[in-house]
Amino acid sequence: MWQQSWLPRQQNPHPLSLVIESLADARVEILIDGYRFLKSEMEPDGIDENVEQDKALWRTVWSLQIPNKMKILMRRACRNSLPTKEILVRRTIIDNPICDRCKVEPETALHALWSCSELDVVWEDASTWSCRGNTSLMDFKELMSWLIKQNHHLELFSAIAWSIWSHRNRVRMLQPSCNPNQLATLAKELLSKFMAAQPPPRIQPTSTCTRCQGPGFRV
Ligand SMILES: [Zn+2]
Repeated sequence: MWQQSWLPRQQNPHPLSLVIESLADARVEILIDGYRFLKSEMEPDGIDENVEQDKALWRTVWSLQIPNKMKILMRRACRNSLPTKEILVRRTIIDNPICDRCKVEPETALHALWSCSELDVVWEDASTWSCRGNTSLMDFKELMSWLIKQNHHLELFSAIAWSIWSHRNRVRMLQPSCNPNQLATLAKELLSKFMAAQPPPRIQPTSTCTRCQGPGFRV
């Protein structure tokens, strides 16, 4: 958001405050989404099981060690708010919902990021993604909930899904893009770079031994 000129004024449309290191790559929509989530957390609804499940799901997604842009993609795919062709047809923006990759099925979020047959080359690591044969999933949220329940490579899954969506958009915008069979490798590299850039976790003192804390203690 420090890079974006989003403030409604002609001079200094960028925030002037110092960049907060942990939010350096944050975008305005991420903060809005995060704010909405925190607000919903404080609302005393608690009786709607679906709402509670959604909150638990988003809490898990938000806690993943992945860049914020990936968290937002997961969130939008779960809420069915990604501009897939199926959604664009519903909004009467385009007429044809058929996936550009396989040219067979409607492009939903689940199809675009996971089940399209043209993505076999991306999810081909059968030892990790054999669950892809599970065709009973209704939508992306169901898939994400299932993966969370299994604690199944959530960070890697999110990174690959983000790479697929990013690649899909580049192709649609006629921008240079890599071969789809490179996407899984690129996602792993992206994740490794992100993890390497994270500050080391703070080590909390676990011992409360009072003998070591007295003024006369010497090593
Ligand atoms: Zn397809």
